Amino acid sequence: MDDQRLRVLLVDDDEDDYIITRDLLAEVKGRQVAMDWVSTFDEAIAAIGRNSHDVYLLDYRLGARSGLELMRESLASGCKAPMILLTGQGDHDVDMEAMKAGAADYLVKSEINAYLLERSIRYAIEKKRAEAQILHMAYYDSLTSLPNRLLFQDRLNQAIIHAERYERMSAMMFLDLDNFKRINDTFGHRVGDLLLKAVADRLKECVRDSDSVARQHTDILNITVARQGGDEFTVLLSEVREPEDAAKVAQRFLDRLSQPFLLDGHEVFITVSIGIAIYEVDGKDLESLLKNADAAMYHAKEQGKNNYQFYKHSMNATSLEKLEFENDLRRALERKEFLLYYQPQIDVRTGGIVGMEALIRWQHPGRGMVSPAEFIPMAEETGLIIPIGAWVLQTACAQNKAWQAAGLTPIPVSVNLSNRQFRQRDLMQAITAAVETSGLEPRHLVLEITESAIMHEPAVSSAMLHQLTAQGLRLAMDDFGTGYSSLGNLKRLPIYAIKIDRSFVMDITTDPDDAAITKAIIAMGRNLNLTVIAEGVETEQQLAFLYEQGCHTIQGYLISPPLPAHEASDILAREKEGAGIGLDICRRIVKHGKGKDTIA
Ligand code: C2E
Ligand code: MG
Ligand code: MG
Repeated sequence: MDDQRLRVLLVDDDEDDYIITRDLLAEVKGRQVAMDWVSTFDEAIAAIGRNSHDVYLLDYRLGARSGLELMRESLASGCKAPMILLTGQGDHDVDMEAMKAGAADYLVKSEINAYLLERSIRYAIEKKRAEAQILHMAYYDSLTSLPNRLLFQDRLNQAIIHAERYERMSAMMFLDLDNFKRINDTFGHRVGDLLLKAVADRLKECVRDSDSVARQHTDILNITVARQGGDEFTVLLSEVREPEDAAKVAQRFLDRLSQPFLLDGHEVFITVSIGIAIYEVDGKDLESLLKNADAAMYHAKEQGKNNYQFYKHSMNATSLEKLEFENDLRRALERKEFLLYYQPQIDVRTGGIVGMEALIRWQHPGRGMVSPAEFIPMAEETGLIIPIGAWVLQTACAQNKAWQAAGLTPIPVSVNLSNRQFRQRDLMQAITAAVETSGLEPRHLVLEITESAIMHEPAVSSAMLHQLTAQGLRLAMDDFGTGYSSLGNLKRLPIYAIKIDRSFVMDITTDPDDAAITKAIIAMGRNLNLTVIAEGVETEQQLAFLYEQGCHTIQGYLISPPLPAHEASDILAREKEGAGIGLDICRRIVKHGKGKDTIA
């Protein structure tokens, strides 16, 4: 026994016996003993439940109840400390029963002396400790302290029973480190072991944090990470809502493990291949789930490693495809797959370029050019819009600064902000960073926001918009007419322009309703002293109509589609030489048109 105080609880309804036991324990040498005493069954249950003693001494006779009952109940509710039963002279059958029920020892009260009592307690505690250690060795991996294969199988079996009974879904994963042998061969087994330990720690960490993705976006209740042996790990998600939950956890493992490890002074890189099987589509019992998760893991290896795969039944093609797309999107920034295109905005009165709208494009390795309409919603949903948006801001500001540095006429560049970006707290920092890093004057930056972003929380938004304009940049209301902003609101917001949505412009020459709406928007914008920009202008007829109504700034395929940066640079350069892209068209319109405020 170590030299800390030994905490003993005596359960005995006889005060005399308490006094005797107390005095006997006081004689114990070499170790301080702190004894508590309770005299009823119920008090005992409560005290044992608090789990604050090293050993329990239970009197066999406890009024109407017995010490044996107390012992059974306590053990059933998980009591870990050893229990010694104190019996009377004639209770020999009870003694046997007590040992069978799990008593560490029994002592006949009349025979107890200080030496016997101390020895019994000491043995009881030692025995428990040894048992616990053996149990731990049997169920836990000694290198990583993770549950081992046996315990994992036990938990998986329980999860299957639970899932069956409550008609829930469980998922299990098989993880295998990629090229682990090479690490062992290169750095030696010591580093190999360190790596396995570090991998185990990261896996635990991924599922432990209460704020982790694993829990944040899913309903997974219980996660067990185990070491299967060698460089193989298994993970059990005992209750998932849908297969995507498992995919999210797998993705988190992939991300976390791909960060370098520093082991014994070596920087070690490792990846992992993961196979996922879902109860019960991929298997109704332990063997088939394990086998199929393993097969899925091999499939992941074949797919080039460092990825996860579901066993074929568990996901239908569309959700799989969606997940793959999401994964691709996650990596697109670091793989530099995004591009910015620029679409010129023209003042019809002069034909000159008065701005460029930056529009993002995704050069997907397999699918070619992907339009923002396809990936911005997913970027919003996953939160990836925040880093992507920051990249757009930086790139657009840097490009505009480069145009100015090349001696081109300074124009503002417009950047689209999505709703989620707009609600993000550090939007201001992202903007300041983009402006400061590029050295662009804020007045050469326009942010395009949508009505719905503002309508979400009008008061907060208004404060935010004022804060933004205080920095010197300008704001335009995009897709105007599709939302529900009230006129009153519009008047209060510090915006300089509204952009008439393409859906109205499209039909102004054929649909009287759209023509009427567009007219009204233009008139209203002018009355509020706002610049009115029409987007999606494709024909000269549309342009003529807009011009006649007093809308002077236009954007659309009629003048130019969005262009890659170098082509946008070319048209800016040509404009500087007097060969502006919209000059001819605009001259024709202005000459024939009945436009208001015609200058040229
Ligand atoms: P938006 O801001 O209203 O941009 C105008 C869209 O209309 C662009 O589509 C543009 O290519 C297209 N367009 C321009 N002129 C014409 C035309 O004459 N005819 C037709 N049919 N279309 C025309 P795009 O580039 O596909 O972008 C779609 C939307 O995606 C944008 O609508 C914007 O809301 C969003 N978006 C684009 N880039 C970004 C970005 O960097 N960040 C965020 N948050 N959203 C972006
Ligand atoms: Mg826009
Ligand atoms: Mg728009």
